[in-house]
Amino acid sequence: MARRIGILGGMSPESTIAYYEHIVHTYTAKYGDHGYPEIVIYSVTFQPYIDWPEEGRWDLVARGLTEAARRLEAAGADFVIIATNTMHKVLDEICAGIEIPVLSLMDAVAEAILKRGIKTVGLLGTRFTMEMEFYKAALAERGIEVLIPDADDREYVDRVIYDELVAGVIRDESRAGFIRIIGDLVSRGAEGVILGCTEIPLLVRESDVDVPLFDTTAIHAEAALEYALRA
Ligand code: GLU
Repeated sequence: MARRIGILGGMSPESTIAYYEHIVHTYTAKYGDHGYPEIVIYSVTFQPYIDWPEEGRWDLVARGLTEAARRLEAAGADFVIIATNTMHKVLDEICAGIEIPVLSLMDAVAEAILKRGIKTVGLLGTRFTMEMEFYKAALAERGIEVLIPDADDREYVDRVIYDELVAGVIRDESRAGFIRIIGDLVSRGAEGVILGCTEIPLLVRESDVDVPLFDTTAIHAEAALEYALRA
């Protein structure tokens, strides 16, 4: 019996849908049947998780997400994946608040980067993911150096995420902007770029650029599937 996957989702709903689809489709493509693991999804209401980080109230984020993770545990999940990069800021607090394991997105992404033999990567994500220490530190622990865009471009990327992508709005103009920023990171030495926000893969794909892109949704979803099946 496979482990039951608990998806802590809703941040945003677009991302949760992508995780669910990716887990199920990857299983079916690989094994040819429909025997994918059971999945419990807990979708929070998103607005407070936009407002609290803005206000610096990560204590409220941690409390709310730990409560949500407990509900996944009570619903029978064997482990949890937090289906957003940004909310890994409170990974330690969530881990401390539940009995079942949390499979870290940063660990899965670091493994994928090292497998490609890459040591310097660019990072695109919300301003919290790009600017706070938690994400870069998790990768630095594995010997990976992270480059982030300059301040104007960070603001632009953050705005596109919250004003467009989390609402499922995909604009060619924004795709062109992201491709330009990826090019800048490459010219500064990035050998690959992390799409470090679970909605960015809706906008940019590897076929749009000449550099490896690390799709954090796909990487994390596949890691969860693998872990579930390893039971
Ligand atoms: N899903 C996004 C991420 O991967 C941003 C939304 C959020 O959680 O604030 O970081």
